[in-house]
Amino acid sequence: MRLPEITRRRTREVMAGKLAIGGDAPVSIQSMTNTPTWDVDATLAQIDALAEAGAQLVRVAVPTAKDTAALKKIVSRSPVPIAADVHFHFDRAIESIDAGVAKIRLNPGNISDRKQVRQVIRAAASANVAIRVGVNEGSVVERVDGEKMKADLNLPLDELMEVKLAEYLSVFEEEGFANLVLSAKSHDAFTCVAVYRRLADRWNYPLHLGVTHAGTVQTGAIRSAAALGALLSEGIGDTVRISFAGDPVQEVLAADELLASLRLRNRHGIELIACPTCGRLQTDVAPVVEQVRLQLANVRKHITVAIMGCVVNGPGEAQSADVALCAGKGKAIVYRRGKKIRTVAADAMIAAVVDEVRSLDAELSS
Ligand code: SF4
Repeated sequence: MRLPEITRRRTREVMAGKLAIGGDAPVSIQSMTNTPTWDVDATLAQIDALAEAGAQLVRVAVPTAKDTAALKKIVSRSPVPIAADVHFHFDRAIESIDAGVAKIRLNPGNISDRKQVRQVIRAAASANVAIRVGVNEGSVVERVDGEKMKADLNLPLDELMEVKLAEYLSVFEEEGFANLVLSAKSHDAFTCVAVYRRLADRWNYPLHLGVTHAGTVQTGAIRSAAALGALLSEGIGDTVRISFAGDPVQEVLAADELLASLRLRNRHGIELIACPTCGRLQTDVAPVVEQVRLQLANVRKHITVAIMGCVVNGPGEAQSADVALCAGKGKAIVYRRGKKIRTVAADAMIAAVVDEVRSLDAELSS
């Protein structure tokens, strides 16, 4: 039985270097480095790791001129388009464009001088560079001596973010610049859903989805999945960044899992199906699952791998997985494409699954 698929809201296509965002392009994954950008080797090593994990665009911070000075080398050696994240200093945007980045991100909350914004827009237009206008909850509410301004308090936050974004976009419209991607992030999943719905109803620029300042790997991944899952299943969103405090490669893996779960992207690696464990467990499978995940992290083919802890659900899952392991007391049965192929001792089960997946990966790649 064929399941219904998500119908995406069509936005205009924007090119960030070789990456199409919006239009008919599939939802893309992006992330951000956390190395100092001036450290070219460290930054490129992280960009390579992010690209290897499935990132299609990587953003780098450029707080100083030392960072933008490193961009030329980074851009020329990166396997994916580079976006420069610009805050406060409009000249960092101009320097980044001159260095050949594919996209820049401007925050209306901290680069508001219209003359400066116009200069950036003109430089981006002549270099064919895309601009993301990225509003953040924290920067739209104007404060005086730490107090929220009264005028701003009269609007719900989602509406206020839309209003501030529209004000900022008027400069781009006056300049006839439409190579735009929009975002409006909050740390609150519910606010994100509300504001992105507003953006999708009002503009047809592609939307970059994200929940900002979402915390640890656990809170960040769950909060992002709640907000982005709701929006993506309504067809809203053209590119995503899942963000949390930690290794950005994990952000990309989480985004891949989210998009693959919603059938918006072909999975970039193994799909793990694992026994959730219960009182019938005959072998502790949790460390087996973790080891299999780690040892197969570099597989790039979509291969389903089931690790099951007993014979109740094990054989059923094994039937539909590409490779499966049914662990019993002291031994385990290995399946390939639904067929039992061997029985191994408990201490050999991790190696048996890993070998089987690697051999299938080689077969699929040949
Ligand atoms: S596979 Fe077996 S051990 Fe694992 S949760 Fe299901 S019934 Fe329990």
